[in-house]
Amino acid sequence: MNLYIVATPIGNLRDISLRALDILKDVDFVLCEDTRVSRVLLEKYQIKTPTISYFQHSKVSKVRKIISLLEEGKDLALISDAGTPGISDPGNKLIDQLLKDLGDEIKIIPIPGASAVISALSISGLRTDKYVFYGFLPHKKGKETILKEIIGNKFTSVFYESTHRIIKTLNKLQELDLKKKVVVARELTKKFETVYRGDIEQVLNQLNNDTTKGEFVVVIG
Ligand code: SAM
Repeated sequence: MNLYIVATPIGNLRDISLRALDILKDVDFVLCEDTRVSRVLLEKYQIKTPTISYFQHSKVSKVRKIISLLEEGKDLALISDAGTPGISDPGNKLIDQLLKDLGDEIKIIPIPGASAVISALSISGLRTDKYVFYGFLPHKKGKETILKEIIGNKFTSVFYESTHRIIKTLNKLQELDLKKKVVVARELTKKFETVYRGDIEQVLNQLNNDTTKGEFVVVIG
């Protein structure tokens, strides 16, 4: 009764471990956040394991089905659309429920690999011994409070941001008088990978002269 939590690439499809490929081939079912997205990866590596969709708001009946498969002795792997499951992605809620229902009988096994937060921290040049990861910031209510917390944070702060909000969020940080070093990592491991570094004004200037399409991680020193 094993559930493998398998990290998949955050862009470049070659960023997957040999062990991850073995596990995805060997398990009875792969739980996918979005089966259409995962098909690209699974087809590239000729993985024919049947898939089951599982996302954060999957119905209770889906969780029941997963539990009964595990009780039958099946091995499962969970993957998300990109990166490490459970990191701003589905996973935690399912694991919590499985531990409640199955206790020590179930083994939850990590298969480590890519994650955008760690990739961005690793190239940031900022302190990484103590950092606070905020995931996605709230859209409206509470956002300013968190941005102020980030400004006052004595540790490095890191968060995920979308194409639509990156400029708005950075503008807000400038308005709130952020004085720290900023690193914005865009489209890591992909064709248009770009890293913007500097103070908030320099980073905003660079971004305003560039396209702001893509996926972003913001690291603040
Ligand atoms: N579980 C994933 C992980 O381990 O990185 C994160 C999933 S979260 C739903 C998606 C967000 O992660 C994106 O909106 C973006 O902020 C960040 N992200 C994912 N891939 C990225 C990449 N290649 N470059 C920069 N940021 C990325």
